[in-house]
Amino acid sequence: MPLYLYNTLTRQKELFTPYKPPYVGLYVCGPTVYGDPHLGHARAAITFDVLFRYLTYLGYKVRYVRNITDVGHLEGDADEGEDKILKKARLEKVEPIEIAHRYTALYHKAMDALNVLRPSIEPAATAHIPQQIAMIERILARGYAYVVNGSVYLDIERYRQDFPYGILSGRSVEELLAGTRELEGQGEKKNPWDFALWKRAEPTHLMQWDSPWGRGFPGWHIECSAMSIHYLGLPFDIHGGGLDLVFPHHEAEIAQAHACFGPEAQHQARFWIHNNLVTIEGQKMSKSLGNFITVEEIFTGTHPKLTRAYPPMALRLLILQAHYRSTLDFSEEALLGAYRAYLRLMSAYQRLKEVSPGSHSDFSVQAWREKVFAALDDDLNTAAALALFFSQIEDILRLRRRELFLLPEDLTLLQNTWQEVLEKILGLTFPPQVSWVNWQKVVELLIQLRRQARLEKNYGLADLLREELSGAGVRLMDFPDETLWELSA
Ligand SMILES: [Zn+2]
Repeated sequence: MPLYLYNTLTRQKELFTPYKPPYVGLYVCGPTVYGDPHLGHARAAITFDVLFRYLTYLGYKVRYVRNITDVGHLEGDADEGEDKILKKARLEKVEPIEIAHRYTALYHKAMDALNVLRPSIEPAATAHIPQQIAMIERILARGYAYVVNGSVYLDIERYRQDFPYGILSGRSVEELLAGTRELEGQGEKKNPWDFALWKRAEPTHLMQWDSPWGRGFPGWHIECSAMSIHYLGLPFDIHGGGLDLVFPHHEAEIAQAHACFGPEAQHQARFWIHNNLVTIEGQKMSKSLGNFITVEEIFTGTHPKLTRAYPPMALRLLILQAHYRSTLDFSEEALLGAYRAYLRLMSAYQRLKEVSPGSHSDFSVQAWREKVFAALDDDLNTAAALALFFSQIEDILRLRRRELFLLPEDLTLLQNTWQEVLEKILGLTFPPQVSWVNWQKVVELLIQLRRQARLEKNYGLADLLREELSGAGVRLMDFPDETLWELSA
């Protein structure tokens, strides 16, 4: 079954074939580790997790590289402002590396909970300074960059003589010029749209390295070119990230690859894939609007916009129920809807395991399965694939109640498809997390029923309830006035 993916570079869906089958090189821009992982992080990570899982399912040997940005990402896109990690370190009076390690750990914890697989390689920018310097040296040697006061900038005017700039975002340099603000400190650039490959560091700057141009630190864009090419070669198969990275970050990466390696770089990657962003009740998510929701706040229900806690799978399903190129508007109502949908889906999955085969088949499992994979092959349409599972829930109930039948081989195919697609490809986990509060209520109810049975001298039922509860790991302790319980194994 051929997989088609939407390529931002060509603005169309294209048949995916790797350069060197069965190997696939996938690079995705990872987090800048200076804050708690939020909904935007979750959406990007889950989108490319499904791509990674699906390519693996299709038999490819995927090398998935997702970086950690721990230096060089400035507050402004135009090389101005403070380094995000340094600023946080300054505010908290700790070392920058403490900030980077703390938020890398929190990112891992949140993504593990969401059942996002770890990438094959997770390189940190600070651990790849020599590769970045080597690339800048080569760009300088080829005449596409210039040095001013210990900083190095890519010379867009010079670059445009040989390559088109703005090819990924579809922006012309004239548009870029119109949108470029005049900023202090840009005086040293030849043109405001030139971008930094290397920035000179003041002596007090906490993160700096030796370079041929003096002490400094790398620009944000060069790290992703250097690390992706270092681990995946050039050109490689797929480069991914959030839609907000198309410009300037990914546009800059393509320019760096061409400036460094010439036309053979072929836009650095064959496919450029971007997931759309998360809005909150129709608004852009931002700290200043007070609608910035972290993943942890969803798991604990501690954000003012939430009335309760939600398990990670509710969020994962919410994200997968939208196509990755559509905007996803978050609200508690939508999250609650996804949680209920998740529980329905997983209950049906469990029920499907209890179905016994019949002597004929009432519907074609093969035809349904083909539709599911056709949806996944159509630019990873997880929303359409999931809809096909939901549409089958009623039939599963009827199969379980023996109102519908499937031959043994059809039943096995159906059960396998549920397992493969929901668990392996979409990464939903089973069993669903049952809340402790609800579970306590069920135990208390059974204890109450047992007391009632004893009052009615129905000792057979009372003993049965005690034994069954014991079998389920609940040990009862009878006192004259009450029955207490504890967990046992
Ligand atoms: Zn990047």
